[in-house]
Amino acid sequence: MKFDARIPSGPLDQKWEKCIRELKLVNPANKRKFEVIVVGSGLAGASAAATLAELGYNVKCYCYQDSPRRAHSIAAQGGINAAKNYQNDGDSIYRLFYDTIKGGDFRAREANVYRLAQLSVNIIDQCAAQGVPFAREYSGYLSNRSFGGAQVSRTFYARGQTGQQLLLGAYQALCRQIGLGKVKMFARCEMLDLVLVDGHAKGIVTRDLVTGEITPHSADAVILATGGYSNVFFLSTNARGCNASAAWRAHKKGALFANPCYTQIHPTCIPVSGEHQSKLTLMSESLRNDGRVWVPKKRGDNRSPDSIPEDERDYYLERKYPSYGNLAPRDISSRAAKEACDDGRGVGPGGLGVYLDFSDAIKRLGVSTIRERYGNLFDMYRTITGESAYEVPMRIYPALHYTMGGLWVDYHLMSNIPGLFVLGEANFSDHGANRLGASALMQGLADGYFVIPHTIGHYFASTKPNRPSTSHPEFKKAVEDVSGMTKRLLSINGKRTPGDFHKQLGKLLWDKCGMARTEAGLKEALRIIPSLREEFWQNVKVTGANGELNQTLEQAGRVADYLEFGELLCADALMRNESCGGHFRTEFQTPDGEALRNDTDYSFVGAWEYTGVGKPPTLHKEPLVYEEVHMTQRSYK
Ligand SMILES: Cc1cc2nc3c(=O)[nH]c(=O)nc-3n(C[C@H](O)[C@H](O)[C@H](O)COP(=O)(O)OP(=O)(O)OC[C@H]3O[C@@H](n4cnc5c(N)ncnc54)[C@H](O)[C@@H]3O)c2cc1C
Repeated sequence: MKFDARIPSGPLDQKWEKCIRELKLVNPANKRKFEVIVVGSGLAGASAAATLAELGYNVKCYCYQDSPRRAHSIAAQGGINAAKNYQNDGDSIYRLFYDTIKGGDFRAREANVYRLAQLSVNIIDQCAAQGVPFAREYSGYLSNRSFGGAQVSRTFYARGQTGQQLLLGAYQALCRQIGLGKVKMFARCEMLDLVLVDGHAKGIVTRDLVTGEITPHSADAVILATGGYSNVFFLSTNARGCNASAAWRAHKKGALFANPCYTQIHPTCIPVSGEHQSKLTLMSESLRNDGRVWVPKKRGDNRSPDSIPEDERDYYLERKYPSYGNLAPRDISSRAAKEACDDGRGVGPGGLGVYLDFSDAIKRLGVSTIRERYGNLFDMYRTITGESAYEVPMRIYPALHYTMGGLWVDYHLMSNIPGLFVLGEANFSDHGANRLGASALMQGLADGYFVIPHTIGHYFASTKPNRPSTSHPEFKKAVEDVSGMTKRLLSINGKRTPGDFHKQLGKLLWDKCGMARTEAGLKEALRIIPSLREEFWQNVKVTGANGELNQTLEQAGRVADYLEFGELLCADALMRNESCGGHFRTEFQTPDGEALRNDTDYSFVGAWEYTGVGKPPTLHKEPLVYEEVHMTQRSYK
């Protein structure tokens, strides 16, 4: 299999410039001859669609929500990183690059991460020029706060609604192009297959979620910006609609899936409250700027937090990681919370919680400052738990939040299928085995506003406009396959809902492939998943019909994909006989319980090739070569 990451040669800080210099161009008059499909209208998709249309390409953009404005990116709370060094606290492009590589436990590509750090500064300029209302200082300068895994303040934010404000910026840029007729928007439209003609990605098949109509769409290239796969675990902080189907179906058409076992568990979420819960809620990492995390020192101490004296509290992050304290990275903070709870010192119902306490910050800064910084998060917390975090500490626990793995892409963000590009959380590119807070928005916007506009042009300039007709046999076959699957799902008429299967799969994955993984547990999951999948195809009940709005049908298709994808997730975790970042194999840890990497054998991107349902996938390895940084044991002490 052809497998070239196309990383430019030369010094790290000049690679992107060199790449741009060498890219072929499409002249303005020719750009309008090309049509691009963009699946996804979150930050990555909307920024790409708007920018490509602005350049002159014709764009068709798809999302399953009723409006592009409702993409999951809207949920992002805390902020977006950029190496502007406004605080004069020692930040630089190199430091953002290094923090990201180290945060990812030395499992990301150097060249991509350096480019991301370089582009971070442009993103803030672009968004501020669009009118995104970033928080500002009294002087008018943009304000910053700190996020995990960094000792500088480089996170730009708009209260606890950064994603929403950034998405409004990208959305208005997209709307401008919709108004100009350069972008055709297809809302409530779900991509259910990718179409390849002569080995190139040339289109998709969609289902109209309101009418059920199944339609082929052709283009000169396809961009997937379809988000992450956290929801395979059923309970996660992601919006309920987020799913892995677009990426998975592209994988089944030949796109490599990289590092699926790199999943991120966020330390500060509202704990699970019962069996019937369908979603978890994040309390932004930004809260760790001012909140202090602790548990009682004594096991089983169920006194109210205010009656536990200071010397009987264990501020375990500050104790274990004095240099970073409460701002230790997410993987490390999550594991530390689990460790405290496993030790019987967890708080709240079931002992699965730790405190995030603002009392010191309120004493120091006053309630009004805390309200100004985090008011909407405190309101959310009160709505869900009935408690005021101004008066009692929040109770938090780790939950599935983000996925670093995704479709494999090269430096141009093109997958191994020519003409198929993948942006944002859907690709695997920049975060290694653990993403630092506030870096996902940065990556999605870097991909959409600044990388793809260059690299897609090179692809077009290297090929001829060759948009096949949708009457091509490959399109016909894809339409038949999608219609066939829809009919099959509706005809089973079994006894269990798709949600019920999803819940069972999610619990299995959380138990066996969640915060801690073992060889035995992963093997057990790999034994159970195929039988669950078999049962699904015999016993699922999908009510309603195809020709109508039918969310059970939508869900059934997504769960069918999870039942295949879950197997790959566990196979990847089993293959990686080391611990790194969010992938913690209990067999591989240092004496003090930290992740123990094996750089000799596992310093590679694990990119999997699909070989058929239930058949062992083929592993391809992209070696990770570090020219600039030395791989070290990560330390936040
Ligand atoms: C609660 C929460 C808070 C977060 N806070 C932060 C933060 O403060 N800072 C930060 O950097 N990151 C944060 N993140 C992560 C960040 O929000 C996401 O990684 C990022 O927004 C993903 O953007 P995206 O454009 O890649 O995908 P999304 O925003 O998920 O967009 C996916 C798009 O693809 C479309 N789509 C998907 N599948 C299909 C299909 N089959 N057919 C048609 N359309 C499809 C959807 O309709 C949608 O338009 C947070 C995440 C969560 C869950």
